[in-house]
Amino acid sequence: MTETLYQNLNLFNGKDDGIKDHCWFLVDDQSGKIEKLGNGAAPKADHIVDLHGKYVMPGLINVHTHITFNQFTPTGDTDISQTRAVVRAIKNLRTLLKSGVTYIRSCGDIYNIDIVLSKLINAGELTKVPRIVPAGRPYSMTGGHGDMPNWGYLVDSCDEMRKAVRRGIKRGAKSIKVMATGGVMTEQDFMDDPQLSAAEMHTAVVEAHHKHLIVSAHAEGNPGIMNAIKAGVDSIEHGFYVNDQEIKLMLKHHIYLTPTLGGAWKINTYGDKTLPKWEMNKMHNAFSDLVKNLSNAWHQGVKFTLGTDAGCPYCFFWDTPLEFEIIAKKLHTSNFASLLMNLHSAQLTKLDDHYGTLEPGKYADFLVLDHDPLKDLKAVQQKDKQVYQHGKRQF
Ligand SMILES: [Zn+2]
Ligand SMILES: [Zn+2]
Repeated sequence: MTETLYQNLNLFNGKDDGIKDHCWFLVDDQSGKIEKLGNGAAPKADHIVDLHGKYVMPGLINVHTHITFNQFTPTGDTDISQTRAVVRAIKNLRTLLKSGVTYIRSCGDIYNIDIVLSKLINAGELTKVPRIVPAGRPYSMTGGHGDMPNWGYLVDSCDEMRKAVRRGIKRGAKSIKVMATGGVMTEQDFMDDPQLSAAEMHTAVVEAHHKHLIVSAHAEGNPGIMNAIKAGVDSIEHGFYVNDQEIKLMLKHHIYLTPTLGGAWKINTYGDKTLPKWEMNKMHNAFSDLVKNLSNAWHQGVKFTLGTDAGCPYCFFWDTPLEFEIIAKKLHTSNFASLLMNLHSAQLTKLDDHYGTLEPGKYADFLVLDHDPLKDLKAVQQKDKQVYQHGKRQF
Protein backbone atom coordinates (compact mmCIF):
# COMPACT_ATOMS: atom_id res chain seq x y z
CA MET A 1 0.00 0.00 0.00
CA THR A 2 1.39 3.39 -0.97
CA GLU A 3 0.21 6.84 -0.05
CA THR A 4 0.41 10.25 -1.66
CA LEU A 5 0.59 13.42 0.37
CA TYR A 6 -0.83 16.63 -1.10
CA GLN A 7 0.54 19.54 0.83
CA ASN A 8 0.88 23.30 0.94
CA LEU A 9 -2.70 23.93 -0.19
CA ASN A 10 -5.58 26.18 0.82
CA LEU A 11 -8.74 24.12 1.24
CA PHE A 12 -12.43 24.73 0.59
CA ASN A 13 -13.80 21.39 1.80
CA GLY A 14 -17.15 21.78 0.04
CA LYS A 15 -19.34 22.18 3.12
CA ASP A 16 -17.82 24.74 5.53
CA ASP A 17 -17.66 28.45 4.79
CA GLY A 18 -14.08 29.67 4.60
CA ILE A 19 -10.70 28.55 3.38
CA LYS A 20 -8.42 26.53 5.66
CA ASP A 21 -4.82 27.66 5.11
CA HIS A 22 -1.70 25.50 4.94
CA CYS A 23 -3.58 22.21 4.67
CA TRP A 24 -2.48 18.77 3.61
CA PHE A 25 -4.24 15.50 2.93
CA LEU A 26 -3.04 11.96 2.54
CA VAL A 27 -4.54 9.72 -0.17
CA ASP A 28 -4.39 5.93 -0.27
CA ASP A 29 -3.16 5.26 -3.82
CA GLN A 30 -5.08 1.99 -4.13
CA SER A 31 -8.53 3.10 -3.00
CA GLY A 32 -8.17 6.73 -4.12
CA LYS A 33 -9.68 7.84 -0.81
CA ILE A 34 -8.53 10.53 1.57
CA GLU A 35 -7.13 8.90 4.70
CA LYS A 36 -6.13 11.90 6.76
CA LEU A 37 -6.47 15.64 6.42
CA GLY A 38 -5.10 18.44 8.52
CA ASN A 39 -2.96 21.54 8.69
CA GLY A 40 0.45 22.25 10.08
CA ALA A 41 3.02 19.45 10.23
CA ALA A 42 2.31 16.84 7.54
CA PRO A 43 2.79 13.08 7.95
CA LYS A 44 5.31 11.04 5.93
CA ALA A 45 4.22 9.53 2.59
CA ASP A 46 5.57 7.55 -0.37
CA HIS A 47 4.85 10.36 -2.82
CA ILE A 48 4.57 14.08 -2.13
CA VAL A 49 2.78 16.64 -4.29
CA ASP A 50 3.43 20.27 -3.36
CA LEU A 51 0.50 22.44 -4.49
CA HIS A 52 2.38 25.68 -3.82
CA GLY A 53 -0.35 27.48 -1.90
CA LYS A 54 -3.03 26.91 -4.56
CA TYR A 55 -6.72 26.46 -3.74
CA VAL A 56 -8.31 23.02 -3.60
CA MET A 57 -12.04 22.32 -3.78
CA PRO A 58 -14.17 19.21 -4.46
CA GLY A 59 -14.71 18.00 -8.03
CA LEU A 60 -17.99 19.18 -9.51
CA ILE A 61 -21.10 17.01 -9.72
CA ASN A 62 -23.32 18.11 -12.61
CA VAL A 63 -26.75 16.51 -12.17
CA HIS A 64 -28.28 17.58 -15.47
CA THR A 65 -26.44 16.58 -18.65
CA HIS A 66 -27.23 15.11 -22.08
CA ILE A 67 -23.86 13.80 -23.25
CA THR A 68 -25.26 12.42 -26.52
CA PHE A 69 -26.61 15.83 -27.62
CA ASN A 70 -24.94 18.34 -29.90
CA GLN A 71 -24.83 21.65 -28.01
CA PHE A 72 -24.46 23.63 -31.25
CA THR A 73 -27.89 22.71 -32.66
CA PRO A 74 -31.39 23.99 -31.76
CA THR A 75 -32.80 20.58 -30.76
CA GLY A 76 -29.86 18.44 -29.69
CA ASP A 77 -29.42 16.65 -33.05
CA THR A 78 -30.58 13.23 -31.83
CA ASP A 79 -31.26 11.73 -35.27
CA ILE A 80 -27.81 10.16 -35.60
CA SER A 81 -26.32 6.67 -35.59
CA GLN A 82 -25.27 4.92 -32.39
CA THR A 83 -21.64 5.05 -33.46
CA ARG A 84 -21.70 8.80 -33.89
CA ALA A 85 -23.53 9.18 -30.60
CA VAL A 86 -20.85 7.19 -28.75
CA VAL A 87 -18.02 9.26 -30.23
CA ARG A 88 -19.88 12.47 -29.42
CA ALA A 89 -20.62 11.34 -25.86
CA ILE A 90 -16.99 10.49 -25.08
CA LYS A 91 -15.83 13.82 -26.48
CA ASN A 92 -18.41 15.66 -24.36
CA LEU A 93 -17.44 13.68 -21.26
CA ARG A 94 -13.79 14.72 -21.72
CA THR A 95 -14.83 18.36 -22.01
CA LEU A 96 -16.87 18.06 -18.81
CA LEU A 97 -13.93 16.53 -16.95
CA LYS A 98 -11.48 19.15 -18.17
CA SER A 99 -13.85 21.86 -16.91
CA GLY A 100 -13.78 20.26 -13.45
CA VAL A 101 -16.78 17.90 -13.52
CA THR A 102 -15.78 14.58 -11.99
CA TYR A 103 -19.29 13.05 -11.74
CA ILE A 104 -22.50 13.53 -13.69
CA ARG A 105 -26.07 12.41 -13.46
CA SER A 106 -27.39 12.17 -16.97
CA CYS A 107 -30.93 13.39 -17.56
CA GLY A 108 -31.75 11.33 -20.62
CA ASP A 109 -29.54 10.11 -23.46
CA ILE A 110 -30.28 8.54 -26.83
CA TYR A 111 -29.85 4.77 -27.27
CA ASN A 112 -29.12 4.41 -23.50
CA ILE A 113 -25.51 5.23 -24.34
CA ASP A 114 -24.93 6.81 -20.93
CA ILE A 115 -25.77 3.43 -19.35
CA VAL A 116 -23.33 1.57 -21.58
CA LEU A 117 -20.55 4.09 -20.99
CA SER A 118 -21.07 4.11 -17.22
CA LYS A 119 -20.62 0.33 -17.18
CA LEU A 120 -17.36 0.69 -19.13
CA ILE A 121 -16.17 3.40 -16.74
CA ASN A 122 -16.98 1.32 -13.67
CA ALA A 123 -15.10 -1.62 -15.22
CA GLY A 124 -12.06 0.60 -15.83
CA GLU A 125 -12.35 0.22 -19.62
CA LEU A 126 -13.08 3.89 -20.28
CA THR A 127 -10.93 6.42 -18.43
CA LYS A 128 -10.32 10.17 -18.31
CA VAL A 129 -14.06 10.91 -18.17
CA PRO A 130 -16.44 11.78 -15.31
CA ARG A 131 -18.26 8.93 -13.59
CA ILE A 132 -21.95 8.67 -14.46
CA VAL A 133 -25.27 8.11 -12.72
CA PRO A 134 -27.06 7.14 -15.94
CA ALA A 135 -30.73 7.69 -16.67
CA GLY A 136 -30.77 6.03 -20.07
CA ARG A 137 -33.61 7.20 -22.26
CA PRO A 138 -36.15 9.48 -20.55
CA TYR A 139 -39.91 8.83 -20.26
CA SER A 140 -42.30 11.07 -22.17
CA MET A 141 -45.87 11.08 -23.42
CA THR A 142 -46.42 10.64 -27.15
CA GLY A 143 -45.80 14.03 -28.75
CA GLY A 144 -44.20 15.28 -25.52
CA HIS A 145 -40.87 16.86 -24.66
CA GLY A 146 -39.00 13.56 -24.96
CA ASP A 147 -40.55 12.61 -28.30
CA MET A 148 -37.42 13.17 -30.37
CA PRO A 149 -35.61 10.64 -32.58
CA ASN A 150 -33.93 7.85 -30.58
CA TRP A 151 -34.59 9.63 -27.28
CA GLY A 152 -37.65 9.18 -25.04
CA TYR A 153 -39.61 6.03 -24.27
CA LEU A 154 -43.16 7.04 -25.21
CA VAL A 155 -45.64 5.99 -22.53
CA ASP A 156 -49.32 6.90 -22.38
CA SER A 157 -50.71 5.13 -19.33
CA CYS A 158 -49.61 3.96 -15.90
CA ASP A 159 -49.26 0.42 -17.21
CA GLU A 160 -47.02 1.51 -20.06
CA MET A 161 -44.95 3.56 -17.64
CA ARG A 162 -44.55 0.63 -15.26
CA LYS A 163 -43.34 -1.67 -18.00
CA ALA A 164 -41.03 0.93 -19.57
CA VAL A 165 -39.40 1.89 -16.27
CA ARG A 166 -38.93 -1.75 -15.29
CA ARG A 167 -37.22 -2.32 -18.63
CA GLY A 168 -35.07 0.78 -18.20
CA ILE A 169 -33.94 -0.36 -14.76
CA LYS A 170 -33.26 -3.85 -16.12
CA ARG A 171 -31.00 -2.30 -18.77
CA GLY A 172 -29.05 -0.47 -16.07
CA ALA A 173 -30.65 2.94 -15.47
CA LYS A 174 -29.56 4.30 -12.08
CA SER A 175 -31.84 7.32 -12.19
CA ILE A 176 -35.18 7.88 -13.93
CA LYS A 177 -36.09 10.99 -15.91
CA VAL A 178 -39.71 11.93 -16.65
CA MET A 179 -41.14 14.77 -18.71
CA ALA A 180 -43.80 16.67 -16.77
CA THR A 181 -44.16 19.65 -19.13
CA GLY A 182 -43.30 20.99 -22.54
CA GLY A 183 -40.07 22.88 -22.95
CA VAL A 184 -37.95 25.41 -24.77
CA MET A 185 -36.32 22.93 -27.14
CA THR A 186 -39.44 21.22 -28.51
CA GLU A 187 -41.31 23.17 -31.17
CA GLN A 188 -44.62 21.40 -30.64
CA ASP A 189 -45.17 22.38 -27.00
CA PHE A 190 -44.84 25.11 -24.37
CA MET A 191 -43.47 25.33 -20.82
CA ASP A 192 -46.97 25.41 -19.32
CA ASP A 193 -48.23 22.36 -21.24
CA PRO A 194 -48.73 19.58 -18.69
CA GLN A 195 -47.54 16.31 -20.20
CA LEU A 196 -47.14 13.06 -18.24
CA SER A 197 -49.92 12.89 -15.63
CA ALA A 198 -49.25 12.86 -11.89
CA ALA A 199 -50.45 9.24 -11.84
CA GLU A 200 -48.10 8.19 -14.65
CA MET A 201 -45.12 9.88 -13.00
CA HIS A 202 -46.08 8.41 -9.63
CA THR A 203 -45.90 4.95 -11.20
CA ALA A 204 -42.34 5.73 -12.30
CA VAL A 205 -41.50 6.98 -8.80
CA VAL A 206 -42.85 3.81 -7.16
CA GLU A 207 -40.81 1.57 -9.46
CA ALA A 208 -37.65 3.66 -9.10
CA HIS A 209 -37.91 3.98 -5.33
CA HIS A 210 -38.36 0.20 -5.00
CA LYS A 211 -34.82 0.01 -6.38
CA HIS A 212 -33.62 3.02 -4.31
CA LEU A 213 -33.19 5.06 -7.48
CA ILE A 214 -34.02 8.76 -7.80
CA VAL A 215 -36.47 10.36 -10.21
CA SER A 216 -36.05 13.75 -11.83
CA ALA A 217 -38.78 15.61 -13.66
CA HIS A 218 -38.33 18.09 -16.46
CA ALA A 219 -40.91 20.61 -15.19
CA GLU A 220 -40.87 24.21 -16.36
CA GLY A 221 -44.41 25.52 -15.95
CA ASN A 222 -47.69 24.88 -14.20
CA PRO A 223 -49.60 22.70 -13.56
CA GLY A 224 -46.78 20.29 -14.54
CA ILE A 225 -44.49 21.27 -11.66
CA MET A 226 -47.28 20.53 -9.19
CA ASN A 227 -48.04 17.22 -10.95
CA ALA A 228 -44.40 16.19 -10.55
CA ILE A 229 -44.34 17.18 -6.88
CA LYS A 230 -47.54 15.22 -6.23
CA ALA A 231 -46.02 12.26 -8.05
CA GLY A 232 -43.20 12.24 -5.48
CA VAL A 233 -40.17 12.97 -7.68
CA ASP A 234 -36.81 13.69 -6.04
CA SER A 235 -35.87 16.72 -8.12
CA ILE A 236 -37.60 19.34 -10.22
CA GLU A 237 -35.49 20.23 -13.24
CA HIS A 238 -35.68 23.90 -14.37
CA GLY A 239 -38.70 24.81 -12.18
CA PHE A 240 -38.99 28.11 -14.04
CA TYR A 241 -42.53 28.92 -12.86
CA VAL A 242 -42.33 27.39 -9.38
CA ASN A 243 -44.84 29.13 -7.07
CA ASP A 244 -45.29 29.54 -3.31
CA GLN A 245 -47.60 26.56 -2.94
CA GLU A 246 -45.11 24.31 -4.73
CA ILE A 247 -42.18 25.73 -2.78
CA LYS A 248 -43.95 24.83 0.46
CA LEU A 249 -44.38 21.23 -0.70
CA MET A 250 -40.81 21.00 -1.99
CA LEU A 251 -39.51 22.10 1.41
CA LYS A 252 -41.80 19.66 3.21
CA HIS A 253 -40.84 16.68 1.02
CA HIS A 254 -37.14 17.61 0.59
CA ILE A 255 -37.39 17.93 -3.18
CA TYR A 256 -34.36 19.50 -4.85
CA LEU A 257 -34.45 22.02 -7.69
CA THR A 258 -31.94 22.06 -10.56
CA PRO A 259 -32.31 25.55 -12.03
CA THR A 260 -30.12 25.19 -15.17
CA LEU A 261 -30.02 28.98 -15.05
CA GLY A 262 -26.71 29.51 -16.85
CA GLY A 263 -28.07 27.85 -19.98
CA ALA A 264 -31.28 29.87 -19.86
CA TRP A 265 -29.24 33.04 -19.43
CA LYS A 266 -26.97 32.17 -22.35
CA ILE A 267 -29.87 31.34 -24.68
CA ASN A 268 -31.60 34.56 -23.68
CA THR A 269 -28.44 36.62 -24.17
CA TYR A 270 -26.85 35.04 -27.24
CA GLY A 271 -29.47 32.73 -28.80
CA ASP A 272 -30.91 35.18 -31.32
CA LYS A 273 -27.80 34.71 -33.46
CA THR A 274 -28.45 31.06 -34.25
CA LEU A 275 -31.68 29.68 -32.76
CA PRO A 276 -35.10 29.64 -34.48
CA LYS A 277 -37.70 32.27 -33.60
CA TRP A 278 -40.16 29.80 -32.01
CA GLU A 279 -37.44 28.75 -29.54
CA MET A 280 -36.21 32.25 -28.76
CA ASN A 281 -39.73 33.62 -28.23
CA LYS A 282 -40.29 31.08 -25.47
CA MET A 283 -37.06 32.02 -23.67
CA HIS A 284 -37.42 35.78 -24.08
CA ASN A 285 -40.98 35.62 -22.72
CA ALA A 286 -39.95 33.57 -19.72
CA PHE A 287 -36.52 34.82 -18.67
CA SER A 288 -37.32 37.65 -16.28
CA ASP A 289 -40.15 35.59 -14.71
CA LEU A 290 -37.96 32.57 -14.22
CA VAL A 291 -35.25 34.60 -12.48
CA LYS A 292 -37.88 36.01 -10.12
CA ASN A 293 -39.45 32.60 -9.43
CA LEU A 294 -36.15 30.81 -8.90
CA SER A 295 -34.99 33.60 -6.62
CA ASN A 296 -38.18 33.19 -4.58
CA ALA A 297 -37.60 29.44 -4.26
CA TRP A 298 -33.93 29.92 -3.33
CA HIS A 299 -34.62 32.49 -0.63
CA GLN A 300 -37.42 30.40 0.87
CA GLY A 301 -34.87 27.62 1.36
CA VAL A 302 -35.39 25.13 -1.47
CA LYS A 303 -32.13 23.24 -1.97
CA PHE A 304 -30.68 23.93 -5.42
CA THR A 305 -28.41 21.46 -7.18
CA LEU A 306 -25.66 22.06 -9.73
CA GLY A 307 -26.91 21.15 -13.20
CA THR A 308 -26.53 22.81 -16.56
CA ASP A 309 -28.57 20.91 -19.18
CA ALA A 310 -25.25 20.47 -21.00
CA GLY A 311 -25.90 19.39 -24.59
CA CYS A 312 -28.92 21.62 -25.10
CA PRO A 313 -28.41 24.78 -27.17
CA TYR A 314 -25.97 27.20 -25.52
CA CYS A 315 -25.60 24.78 -22.58
CA PHE A 316 -21.96 24.09 -23.28
CA PHE A 317 -20.08 21.16 -21.81
CA TRP A 318 -17.34 23.46 -20.50
CA ASP A 319 -19.75 25.79 -18.70
CA THR A 320 -20.58 23.94 -15.47
CA PRO A 321 -18.35 26.27 -13.37
CA LEU A 322 -20.21 29.29 -14.82
CA GLU A 323 -23.43 28.16 -13.10
CA PHE A 324 -22.08 29.24 -9.67
CA GLU A 325 -21.46 32.78 -10.87
CA ILE A 326 -24.79 33.13 -12.70
CA ILE A 327 -26.73 31.86 -9.68
CA ALA A 328 -24.90 34.21 -7.30
CA LYS A 329 -25.40 37.21 -9.60
CA LYS A 330 -28.99 36.64 -10.72
CA LEU A 331 -30.41 35.26 -7.46
CA HIS A 332 -28.27 37.47 -5.17
CA THR A 333 -26.71 34.69 -3.15
CA SER A 334 -23.38 34.53 -1.36
CA ASN A 335 -20.52 32.77 -3.12
CA PHE A 336 -20.48 30.10 -0.43
CA ALA A 337 -24.23 29.41 -0.76
CA SER A 338 -23.84 29.09 -4.53
CA LEU A 339 -20.94 26.64 -4.16
CA LEU A 340 -23.08 24.52 -1.82
CA MET A 341 -25.13 23.49 -4.87
CA ASN A 342 -22.36 20.99 -5.50
CA LEU A 343 -22.91 19.36 -2.10
CA HIS A 344 -26.65 19.26 -2.79
CA SER A 345 -25.91 17.46 -6.06
CA ALA A 346 -24.04 14.81 -4.07
CA GLN A 347 -26.93 14.53 -1.61
CA LEU A 348 -29.61 14.28 -4.31
CA THR A 349 -27.73 11.51 -6.10
CA LYS A 350 -26.93 9.78 -2.78
CA LEU A 351 -23.24 10.02 -3.58
CA ASP A 352 -22.57 12.12 -0.48
CA ASP A 353 -21.08 9.27 1.56
CA HIS A 354 -18.22 9.17 -0.95
CA TYR A 355 -18.19 12.41 -2.96
CA GLY A 356 -19.06 16.11 -2.75
CA THR A 357 -16.76 17.12 0.11
CA LEU A 358 -13.09 16.64 0.88
CA GLU A 359 -12.83 14.76 4.17
CA PRO A 360 -11.23 11.54 5.43
CA GLY A 361 -13.09 8.55 3.98
CA LYS A 362 -14.17 10.36 0.80
CA TYR A 363 -12.73 9.87 -2.67
CA ALA A 364 -10.02 12.35 -3.63
CA ASP A 365 -11.94 14.00 -6.48
CA PHE A 366 -10.69 17.57 -6.44
CA LEU A 367 -9.77 20.67 -8.39
CA VAL A 368 -6.66 22.81 -7.97
CA LEU A 369 -7.24 26.51 -8.67
CA ASP A 370 -4.98 29.55 -8.76
CA HIS A 371 -7.46 31.77 -6.91
CA ASP A 372 -9.89 31.57 -3.99
CA PRO A 373 -13.35 30.44 -5.23
CA LEU A 374 -15.07 31.84 -2.14
CA LYS A 375 -13.72 35.31 -2.91
CA ASP A 376 -14.47 35.17 -6.64
CA LEU A 377 -16.55 32.43 -8.28
CA LYS A 378 -14.71 33.08 -11.55
CA ALA A 379 -11.82 31.18 -9.95
CA VAL A 380 -13.70 27.92 -10.66
CA GLN A 381 -13.83 28.85 -14.36
CA GLN A 382 -10.03 28.69 -14.69
CA LYS A 383 -9.39 26.93 -18.00
CA ASP A 384 -6.13 25.20 -17.05
CA LYS A 385 -7.19 24.05 -13.59
CA GLN A 386 -5.86 20.73 -12.35
CA VAL A 387 -8.49 17.98 -12.11
CA TYR A 388 -8.06 14.84 -9.98
CA GLN A 389 -10.24 11.75 -9.72
CA HIS A 390 -9.61 9.20 -6.96
CA GLY A 391 -6.27 10.89 -6.34
CA LYS A 392 -5.11 10.58 -9.96
CA ARG A 393 -4.44 13.70 -11.98
CA GLN A 394 -6.54 13.78 -15.18
CA PHE A 395 -5.84 17.32 -16.39
ZN1 LIG B 1 -35.48 19.75 -19.47
ZN1 LIG C 1 -32.35 18.51 -19.99
